[in-house]
Amino acid sequence: MKKIIALIAVSVLPFVPIFGLEKYSLALFFGYMSLLLIWWQIVLGNRFITKYVSVDLVGINKIHKFMGIYGFFLLVTHYILVLAVHGITLITDRSFSGFSLGVKYGAIAFYLTFGLWLTSAIFRKKFSWDWWKRLHFIAYPIFLLAILHSNIIGTSHQIYESVTYMRSLMIFTFLSIVIMRIARWAGLLKHSHKVVDIKSISNDVKLVTLQPNGKNITPNNGQFAYLQAKRFGQAHPFTVSHVNKQTKQLSFSIKASGDWTRQLHSELAVGDKVFIDGPYGVFTTEIANTRRPVVVVAGGIGITPFLRWAKQGKIDYLFYGNRTLNDIAFKDVLEKNIANLTHVLSDEESTNYEQGYIKTELIKKQTGKTFKKAQYFICGPPVMMNTVENGLRQAGIPDSRIHSERFSL
Ligand SMILES: Cc1cc2nc3c(=O)[nH]c(=O)nc-3n(C[C@H](O)[C@H](O)[C@H](O)COP(=O)(O)OP(=O)(O)OC[C@H]3O[C@@H](n4cnc5c(N)ncnc54)[C@H](O)[C@@H]3O)c2cc1C
Repeated sequence: MKKIIALIAVSVLPFVPIFGLEKYSLALFFGYMSLLLIWWQIVLGNRFITKYVSVDLVGINKIHKFMGIYGFFLLVTHYILVLAVHGITLITDRSFSGFSLGVKYGAIAFYLTFGLWLTSAIFRKKFSWDWWKRLHFIAYPIFLLAILHSNIIGTSHQIYESVTYMRSLMIFTFLSIVIMRIARWAGLLKHSHKVVDIKSISNDVKLVTLQPNGKNITPNNGQFAYLQAKRFGQAHPFTVSHVNKQTKQLSFSIKASGDWTRQLHSELAVGDKVFIDGPYGVFTTEIANTRRPVVVVAGGIGITPFLRWAKQGKIDYLFYGNRTLNDIAFKDVLEKNIANLTHVLSDEESTNYEQGYIKTELIKKQTGKTFKKAQYFICGPPVMMNTVENGLRQAGIPDSRIHSERFSL
């Protein structure tokens, strides 16, 4: 993450010559900062670029979100300063030529950004994931409008070489991103695979095994990849739950949790061609590095990041929550490889199974002296994750030893 933050900081440098303390210079500076911000938001939203710096998509997403929420105020400041310099006639002017047209491009970009900010920062929960994602594409016309606006109004890119170069770089990368996005949507520049097996492994979960048609990906334990089932279709992230080093086959355990996954369950067939993009993620990296006991708390399909670690005997304790016995995925693999395994069922009573939800008291009781020393890895439904994270913190486990991954980006 530090690398991304450093790159963002460096990208501000070409604009430093514009900076001044009088209103006009400040207005210009904030205008260019807003342009830079929109460009960064587009760059950070494209994993095929950011992967060259970091595969930590969750971390990158946090930066993207932070910049989206607070960066908007750069644009508001630009707007206020411009009004302070030029007066209200800037808005009321009805002509569509030269300078006025440039102002109009800027105004449209401003209102669209405001709309984007409202839908992402304020009313995010009112939209489904798909709609929220679609609305995000408004950033692309916003960038074009901002470039047109600065072309007509801004003069700094003609005066300062550093601004000229940075602006050209931004336009070039923007156009490249648009072309690459369309190509990737068509399934190009991704790893083509063939479906070789589909198995039901529990209620709602299917294990889908893929054979690469050409180059394979080499995910580390716990990493995920994007699966696109057809050309010009959506790509969704899934943890790679199994990798066969000899055959290069890989498997995803996919739960039917919404429209797309349900359709995949009913339509995907052996022999189909799919497209894979990855690997991404750093969630369980610490399991490889730590000398401390590893305690995993998983709920439902949240078990997938730990399956490959379990097979390597790296998990000391597992607390696995499910609704019923039939919901438990990979029961045999887990029972064979993890000595201290506690199943917790919320909707069914059964001998040898804990009943209810996973709580800190249960973890404390089962882990004994290990409790204070362990590294904790948590993945599952949001309510379970929040309860366990808070419980561990309250019990004195430092944040540096609580690692979690939410199945939404
Ligand atoms: C890092 C990571 C690893 C995951 N691993 C697994 C796994 O091993 N097995 C499994 O069954 N599920 C996994 N998921 C969850 C899986 O991606 C979603 O369940 C699936 O995308 C839901 O799509 P849907 O349209 O069927 O459901 P919806 O009801 O439309 O979506 C449910 C939620 O899934 C998330 N989501 C939907 N589409 C996307 C997308 N394109 N990109 C990112 N998030 C999206 C959103 O938070 C959304 O609210 C993982 C998610 C992430 C982020």
